[in-house]
Amino acid sequence: MFLNERKEPLELLYYRVLRHRRQLSDKEARSLSIYEKGFSGECLYDEVFEETGHDNVFIFRDIWLQVEAGNVQLDSLIVSDGEMEINEIKNYSGEYVYHDGVWKIQNRRISEDPISQLRRAVNKLIKVKFEKNLSFDVKGKIVFPNPYFVLESAERSSLEMIVKREKLKKYMRSFRMKQSGRSAEMLVKEIAERMVENPYFKPKTDFTRLRQGYYCVHCGSFEVEKRRVHVICKKCFCREVSETAIVRMAVEFKLLFPERKLTVNEIYAFSGGLFHKDHIQRHLSKHGTRSGQGPTSFYEVHSLYLKDFSIENRYKSSNKHRIR
Ligand SMILES: [Zn+2]
Repeated sequence: MFLNERKEPLELLYYRVLRHRRQLSDKEARSLSIYEKGFSGECLYDEVFEETGHDNVFIFRDIWLQVEAGNVQLDSLIVSDGEMEINEIKNYSGEYVYHDGVWKIQNRRISEDPISQLRRAVNKLIKVKFEKNLSFDVKGKIVFPNPYFVLESAERSSLEMIVKREKLKKYMRSFRMKQSGRSAEMLVKEIAERMVENPYFKPKTDFTRLRQGYYCVHCGSFEVEKRRVHVICKKCFCREVSETAIVRMAVEFKLLFPERKLTVNEIYAFSGGLFHKDHIQRHLSKHGTRSGQGPTSFYEVHSLYLKDFSIENRYKSSNKHRIR
């Protein structure tokens, strides 16, 4: 069973927000598309796992673990009695050639080597085993869920670490034979205790280069009108409830500037003066935690994922009036 929800990596959320507020450089646009593709590959993997069933095992999805002084990110970790199996998920498509640690597509070398990534991750879990004197096996596979991935390689030992789309269901069904009792629960607890936030997400965004203001979440237009409880886009007529809009502005602010204090004045300026400061304060108090009093007080939002906030009627599109 899945133990946690799979969420977009913070880097993906960051680039999605950034692209609304300024032109992305070529490098940033490439990063955005790599993160989008990676995430959709992971979702595809989850769908196949849902289809084949996963009741006999515990599955962690996209987690960061602290091991000794370092960290490791795992796309999927499958835990059963006496065993942990890492799945490194790669949404590659096209014809790849692998030889001696080098991956190429159309004769161009790619920057990553999933096989050495997987070996590194396996070694991290082996460290956990020895550090805690636990008894479990660590295995790993690189999973390519995209049906348009083709691989040419003569290295048998490397190919054994790979699961391609055509074998994915069979591979996932093999977990039906596993047992998950006390031993698996103990391993799950060990992993859960080591989970940390993504330690590398520390963007440095230049505030002055960003377009300030509120934009329509549907079409991206900054041409909007504030009504009593909604903001309406003048271009596509979609509307967003003000409460949601304010929380979205706060979340975007924290994604772009994790090190800056989230204050009423910051959100007021960031959303182009669209909302009353009293309203901003009310909704930040409701959906965040306040520190300090008076003009120096600031807030911490509970999550960087909008769907984690219990906000009704988040967003409404008015198909009748939408202009395409
Ligand atoms: Zn719009």
